[in-house]
Amino acid sequence: MAINLLDLDSAGLTRFCIDIGEKPYRAKQLLRWIHQLGMSDFSEMSDLAKAFREKLAALAIIQSPEVISDHIAADGTRKWLLSTGAGNAVEMVFIPEVNRGTLCISSQVGCALACSFCSTGRQGFNRNLTVAEIIGQLWWANKMLKTEKAHEACFVSESSIHGRAHDQKKDAGRAISNVVLMGMGEPLANFENVVTALDLMLDDNTYGLSRRKVTVSTSGLVPAMDRLRERCPVALAVSLHAPNDPLRDQLVPINKKYPIKMLLAACERYLQAAPRDFITFEYVMLDGVNDSIEHAHELVHLVKKIPCKLNLIPFNSFIGSGYKRSSLETIRIFRDVLMQAGIVTTVRKTRGDDIDAACGQLAGQVLDKTRRASRSITKVAG
Ligand code: SAH
Ligand code: SF4
Repeated sequence: MAINLLDLDSAGLTRFCIDIGEKPYRAKQLLRWIHQLGMSDFSEMSDLAKAFREKLAALAIIQSPEVISDHIAADGTRKWLLSTGAGNAVEMVFIPEVNRGTLCISSQVGCALACSFCSTGRQGFNRNLTVAEIIGQLWWANKMLKTEKAHEACFVSESSIHGRAHDQKKDAGRAISNVVLMGMGEPLANFENVVTALDLMLDDNTYGLSRRKVTVSTSGLVPAMDRLRERCPVALAVSLHAPNDPLRDQLVPINKKYPIKMLLAACERYLQAAPRDFITFEYVMLDGVNDSIEHAHELVHLVKKIPCKLNLIPFNSFIGSGYKRSSLETIRIFRDVLMQAGIVTTVRKTRGDDIDAACGQLAGQVLDKTRRASRSITKVAG
């Protein structure tokens, strides 16, 4: 079977080159062709010897997951549904803003951790994504958005002949400047593949993203947080969601294994590897569940010694969830308690509501694994 070169980071590609009788430095050239220029056709890699290109064509492929659908919300948020075979799909979201563009990618098909408010968690676990499927999301989106931007630039220069203004803001928001692993799945439960993909994101011969522009979000797999700190200490977001163990046990069941005290100790250790960094604590706002003033005070007490930011996420509702989003007023009061205690707190904008694309609720309005893929596909097709 042909090897998918998207599965290989710099070290893997170097080994591959040596194994097929090529010089190790060829790996660098390949990385640039594949990731910087978005090439998938070996015959177009013009600075590689013809014999090498033919060898590559016989042995290897460059293939990202197939894109089943592409939807743009009224606010510019864009969602793609990617096939992962066997009737399953994962989702990827691009959020353009004035000075940056954030790509939210998935790491697993489904998730085993069963957080009670998460539609991905409700589906159960199907499988880990491969390295090619993880980095392939960035590879494909990067290439696609660049191509579109080039077309737009063409259109703009033509239209400016007719006196139309160039919308610079729109342009500036198009490229991918940040990647967040906040799509479907628990990234740290797919550790090796995720870390290899992270290595690829940071590599100077590929996307050259800085460590702080790549965020891994975890529900709190403590041993894996320690391993990430040693292997690739990118920005860390921790899904806290509750200020005490009894409540967190209900919302994030992995808390029974790694309770809050252990989790926060792991956060402090993480910051020792990256002392100028901070942890982003995510906190979903669930009406009447975790959103009282008392909860806010408890939260302040819990996190005040840790360099952190708090990100309040208004709950994204889905059919059968059993939860409701906290009111704007409740969220405001909760935020003010945190801010008054000196904790930088943001409220996540609910983006792409009309295409069901809010990060963290990527599975759509579905209740089980089997219905999920077919419904998603029907939903986007219809
Ligand atoms: N598994 C990882 C990353 C994916 S989820 C994690 O749990 O951190 C990304 C974020 O979205 C997490 O903070 C998650 O708890 C949150 N989330 C999940 N379902 C949500 C929903 N229905 N509404 C709002 N946020 C949700
Ligand atoms: Fe898994 Fe994260 Fe959803 Fe929890 S919130 S079930 S860890 S994807």
